[in-house]
Amino acid sequence: MSDKPKDKNKLYYSILAVVSIILIIIGVLVFNNQNTEAEEDLDIAYTELIKKINNKEVEKIEMTVGSTSVKVKLKDIEEEKNAIVPSTQAFIELVQEEVKNGNEIELIQNPTSVLLRISETLLSLLPTIMIVVLFILIFKMQGLGDKGKVYDATSSENTHTTFEDVAGLDEEKNELIEIVDFLKEPKKFQEMGAKIPRGILLCGKPGTGKTLIAKAIAGEAGVPFISMSGSEFIEMFAGLGASRVRKLFEKAKKIAPWIVFIDEIDAIGARRTSASGAESENNQTLNQLLVEMDGFDTNETVIVLAATNRPEMLDKALLRPGRFDRQITIAAPDAKGREAILKIHAKDKKFASNINLKDIANDTAGFTGAELANVLNEAAIIATIKKHKKIQMQDLDDAVKKVTVGLEKHSRVISDKDKKLTAYHEAGHAIVSKFLETQMNVKEVSIIPRGLAGGYTMYKTNEDKYYISKTEMEEKLVALLGGRAAEKIALDDISTGASNDIEVATQIARDMVTVYGMSDNIGPIYLKQKDPYERQIFGENIDDAVGAEVKRMIDIAYKKAQEIILAHMDKLQAVAERLLEKEIISAEEFETFFE
Ligand code: ADP
Ligand code: ZN
Repeated sequence: MSDKPKDKNKLYYSILAVVSIILIIIGVLVFNNQNTEAEEDLDIAYTELIKKINNKEVEKIEMTVGSTSVKVKLKDIEEEKNAIVPSTQAFIELVQEEVKNGNEIELIQNPTSVLLRISETLLSLLPTIMIVVLFILIFKMQGLGDKGKVYDATSSENTHTTFEDVAGLDEEKNELIEIVDFLKEPKKFQEMGAKIPRGILLCGKPGTGKTLIAKAIAGEAGVPFISMSGSEFIEMFAGLGASRVRKLFEKAKKIAPWIVFIDEIDAIGARRTSASGAESENNQTLNQLLVEMDGFDTNETVIVLAATNRPEMLDKALLRPGRFDRQITIAAPDAKGREAILKIHAKDKKFASNINLKDIANDTAGFTGAELANVLNEAAIIATIKKHKKIQMQDLDDAVKKVTVGLEKHSRVISDKDKKLTAYHEAGHAIVSKFLETQMNVKEVSIIPRGLAGGYTMYKTNEDKYYISKTEMEEKLVALLGGRAAEKIALDDISTGASNDIEVATQIARDMVTVYGMSDNIGPIYLKQKDPYERQIFGENIDDAVGAEVKRMIDIAYKKAQEIILAHMDKLQAVAERLLEKEIISAEEFETFFE
């Protein structure tokens, strides 16, 4: 990060601000002493005033910054009344918010009007001039602080996002529409005695639209959206995390209704530990969050939405009633959802007439909304670079590849030995998959390096599936190990190129045993508990048994991959040689090897 010099600036300005404020207070005190006789009687209490503002009975409020006495003109009475407000800044914010929300108050802020009230000798003018100058300085600094926001992890905005900007996710939107109603007309619900959820947890992978949907709720309800990110707290100084949370909620409560959005809540909301240092700092932040969530009155219309990809990591205390007691899971979109998302993001782009977004939706199973938006953006960039008038199908295909496997690296120099190894490795994946009933057809095999991979085998995607059978998972392991098996058999050596395949395969095998209960030896038992205490009921040797099962599954899969390669050595040879020659083989060409 290149924020360091700004940090220094911030510190400098903060010190200046504190000094200025002290000077102002002294100035105001001195000044007020000179003018005590000017103080008028107050004839409206502060609480009364707030009530009248809420009821839209106030027409005009005139105030002088630095003075806590304000003049109030009520709608139905001719004469003006005086009131004392406890804190000028908070009161201005409150009135400004009312004005924003359509309350027809005229707010006249008058930082210099104090000048008019004092006698005209130059000497007595001096402190006032000082005050005015300092005010100007402070206002300037506040502006600066807003831009920097180094330690402020929160930000608020009035969003214009609506549910129309959120494609798919119909059920989720339906579930959230009552929140919108509640934010719009809290009284209606309260009178009925309905209890509205305080906290809602949105669970899902990054990029599935959690932030988007939270913004849409705020936009639909016409309430401001304050957001903060859990991970930013981690970088803060000791004690700051908790105080940020407190300030955030102070701000929210003062001008409810609001939506508070906490992204990556797992960063602060992970199970509390007894650790020290950074960990205990997170505990403090979490504790403060819990205190705030419990501190709401039933008639306070603040809704806290939080996002996480790892709900199982969260401290159980966060999920209790009255806190985040509602969970909404946002899954990666299905084909229909993907098409809808593509349509939204295609609106402002120019496409060639033969482009069918449905085809792209079918080709991008597993993509999140963010990835789809990214694909269209990349396609536009590629089209621009290639000087196309409109985005072509080829640009879109390239964009999909770029987002999935990274950019082609034609410039990287690869030794012939590496190339040969990659060719056999990728041919191995392709051939092995070809002879597995449940595996998808090959779409493209390539030994052109992309991203971190030396080559890749792409498969056609099928329509979205909700369930995966055990056979399919077992065969997936075989396909993944096909690369390694081919290296071993054809070149009698193995390489580091298979490391990612091995990692993925091991993860799948472990999930088969510990999550999906697919191992006959262990049975349908969930064994992924984080807490060792919870696992203990299965006996001390359960981990050994899981390990043995995972190893057995991988061994069987690797043996099967080798068998397929051995049975089709001629095909492996042919595909690998063609790859070395052309570097890339299409689906049609691949099929010709099997005619
Ligand atoms: P998350 O908060 O889940 O990580 P975001 O809400 O930040 O995801 O999504 C990132 C971007 O992806 C959004 O700004 C939007 O452009 C796009 N996106 C994600 N989901 C959708 C969707 N359902 N409809 C339209 N755009 C989406
Ligand atoms: Zn591989």
